[in-house]
Order: sequence, then C-alpha cells, then structure tokens
Amino acid sequence: MVTSQSRRRTLANLLIYNSLTRKKEPFVPLESGKVRMYTCGLTVNYLMHIGHARTYIIWDVVKRFLEYLGYEIRHVSNITDISVDDNILKRVRASGEAFQQLTTRHTQDYYRDRHSLGIRDPYTYAIATQHIQEMIELVQQLLDRGFAYEAADGVYFRISKFPPYGQLAGLDPATLQVGASGRVDKDQYDKEHVGDFVLWKQAKPGEPFWFSPWGPGRPGWHIECSAMSMKYLGPTLDISGGGEDNLFPHHENSIAQSQAATGQPYVRYWMHVRHLNLGEEKMSKSTGNFLTVREAVEIFGASTLRLFLLATHYRKPITFTLKELERTGQRLERLRQLLNRLQSVTTIEPNVPENQPKEARFILERRAEFVTALLDDFSTGRAVNQLFRLVNRIYGQLETQPDFSVATANALLHFFDEAGSILFGDLYTREIRPKPDPMVRSLIELLLSERSRLRNQKNYQEADAIRARLQDIGFNVADTQQRTLWWIASVNRKKKSKDAH
Ligand SMILES: [Zn+2]
Repeated sequence: MVTSQSRRRTLANLLIYNSLTRKKEPFVPLESGKVRMYTCGLTVNYLMHIGHARTYIIWDVVKRFLEYLGYEIRHVSNITDISVDDNILKRVRASGEAFQQLTTRHTQDYYRDRHSLGIRDPYTYAIATQHIQEMIELVQQLLDRGFAYEAADGVYFRISKFPPYGQLAGLDPATLQVGASGRVDKDQYDKEHVGDFVLWKQAKPGEPFWFSPWGPGRPGWHIECSAMSMKYLGPTLDISGGGEDNLFPHHENSIAQSQAATGQPYVRYWMHVRHLNLGEEKMSKSTGNFLTVREAVEIFGASTLRLFLLATHYRKPITFTLKELERTGQRLERLRQLLNRLQSVTTIEPNVPENQPKEARFILERRAEFVTALLDDFSTGRAVNQLFRLVNRIYGQLETQPDFSVATANALLHFFDEAGSILFGDLYTREIRPKPDPMVRSLIELLLSERSRLRNQKNYQEADAIRARLQDIGFNVADTQQRTLWWIASVNRKKKSKDAH
C-alpha cells in the first residue's frame, strides 16, 4: 500500500493530456482527493467491438491507477438506448423484434462483454431511456435562457449564443458548412445556423417517441450526456472523455449544452482515445472490417487482448495484427508461468540464503518506473515494458539459479499483483494468477512426498514415473538443492472457453 507521504507526492505528480488545452497538465481535481468521472458508453444497437474495448479498458486502467494513488472515484457511464437511425429501424422491422427488445438485449451483451475483459462496473450505468425527464428539463432550461429555439421539426441549440463553441475541436463556428467532411447533419433543414444542433427531435411516423412540451419525439444524442452527468456528478466533472470520434461534434455540443445551462465549467480534463485499425488481415466472422469483443475474446483470449491494447499509449493508433497478438500471447504465457512458479516458492518454508540484494533493487526500480510511466498521462505501453523487463530478468536468472528466497519471491509477487491488478483488472486474479485450489495443492504435495520417499529408497524409476505423469497433466516439477518446486505449467484455455459457452 502507498504511505500517506508517498501518496501526497504522487497525487501531485499526475499529468494528463487535456484535449481542450492540447497539452499535458498537472491533475488537480475540483475537490481534493475525489474524482468525478463521466465517460461515454455504448450505443446498444450493436454488439461491442474491439475499438470500443480499447476505450473502455483505458478508462478501467485510469480508474484503477487513480485509486492506487489514493483517489476516491465516482464514475458514471451512459448507455445510449435511444439512438434511432434508418439502418436500425430497417433491422428492427426485418427481425420482427421491438426496438426496445433489441436495446435491452444488447445492454445485457454489453455488461457481459465488459466483464469478459475484466472491466469493473462504474458507480452508475446511466441508461438514457430512464432519464428522459431530466433531458426535457435541461432542454427547457436552455430555451428559457435563450440558448435554444423551437423549429418545425424540433428544438435546436443556437451556437451563435455560445462564443466558446468550437474550442475543443479547434473549429471556427463561422467556417462550419453543411456536409463538409460529412460531420454536420444535412438532414436538419429547419435550423437557423448550419452548426446548430438538435436537442429534441420530433418523431417521424413509425419511430419510437416520448411526450414532451414540443410534441412527441426523442432527445438528440448529445443532451443525454449533459443531463445524466449533471444529475449524478454535478455541473463540473474532473475527467470526461470517449473515443476520438466523440470529440466533435458530441463533446463540443456537450460542453455547449452544459455550460450554457449552468454557467459553470463542464469538464476540467478531456481525454480522447485513438482509434484501432484492423489492418489488412481478415479475421472477422462478421461482415467487413469489424471484430466484436466476443469474437476477439474467443480467438485470442481476454487477457491477451487486454495486454495487446495496453501495450500502446492511448493517444497513439494501434494496428491489429495476428502476428502481434501471437507475440502478446507468448509474453503473457511467460508471465503466467513465472507467477505460478513464484507462488510455489512462497508456500514452502525453505532454507534458501538471502543472496539477492541486487534483485531487490532491480524490483524497486521497475516498480518506480512503472508508477512513473502511468503518472505521465497513463503511459501504459511504458508500464507494460517495465513489467516485462522484470519478467525477462528473472527468466535470465533462473538459468543459473533455479530457486528464489521467499523474500525475493514475495517482493516479486507483491509488485506483479499491484501492477497486474491495474493493467489486467479483474482478469488478473481470474486468469493470470488464479489461486490454486487447496485440495489440488494437497494432492500434488502428497504425490511429491511419495516421490521423495521413493527417491530416498533409490527407486528412481518409479519416482521419475510420478514426475512424468504430473507433467503430462500439466504440472511442472523442478528439484533444486534444497527442495522440490512444482507449478502449473499452462492453463488449457481452449477447453475453458468451450465450457463457458
Ligand atoms: Zn457522451
């Protein structure tokens, strides 16, 4: 655990790249020691794909690291279950499933897919359809304050009334044009200015709707994030963000709506996660250049996927290649086996001399570098490298000295547990270092004591047969000068994933 002194030091040292100011800034939350965080979640018309996975895993690491530093986090994330477009309506009509049934089903899928990646739930999942009243109230507030107006097909936000508009995206509102780069919606004809955006849409025949003072319709997409973040976290958030495609117009509009309504700053630190490119290789069972999380988890394993996505800094693009994923899988297997092996050291009261002072220093240095990397705008790639520098060093050492002292093994496990829980989240205890079943442990130790008895009787043939059988099952056995170590060689993940279905 962090001491209060080191905690104060690290609290002051965190730098976050703020998309609004386009520079790294020291992180100072509104209220000391507390972080109000709101992140954009999924539009539950489809299954979550690996591009989303990258963004949500980053938020998970951000939260876990902030907690490690000693912050108390209140995190809210939305679920958009009101986004209706022609494609989705066509799909719904073709399948005979009601729109709401589809979004409820995909909301459950979303929870399941997040859990499969070791991502912890937020304090609140804010579901859009359960907050229509709050959205209507916010639209009314904007109308009352002159920031919005009613047109024939809905209510719009008037960007000319809000001078900071365009600051986040670095855009001059005067240069906004219809259809330029396809970002401004061409279909909204009734607005005063081309950059004005919709707050409330009147329903067309056949579309889902809610009643409002402006007739039956539905909220525009942007208003939900302003209304729901304000409800749970107040007018000013410490951290908010999403994928880079959320920056404009979604976050620009969120700032306008929120600040126009409250007169207070909306978000202190905006963070945006870069895209993930699927590259040339076709690895999807679905159509086109699209890979769902569940496909990817089935093919590569959740931990491998998570490590792959974290090996690159969140503001740099990633290209998904089979070769790199394979390499990541091998790296992970080395870590997993090492942890199994260290775990077996710590359970035996040994007689191994404390001869590794250099190792202790090396571990402390890697730990310090790991924390320093994350303090520098959550540089997970550098943090991952520190972790594997240590893994490689230990493997190198194992070639000449196959044993550890309990103190060294414990120091290593302490670092790996700390770092692993930040990087892998819930997958760390679930997949990387699962606690061995105590009955399995007792059984193996019983077999090894039998083997040891046979060896003492110089019955090497039968002793070796026990070892060979254990290795067939998946247990490695190594004799050092002082003792016999055993560890689980590999987890048969293929079989496990089959059982899970
Ligand atoms: Zn949002």
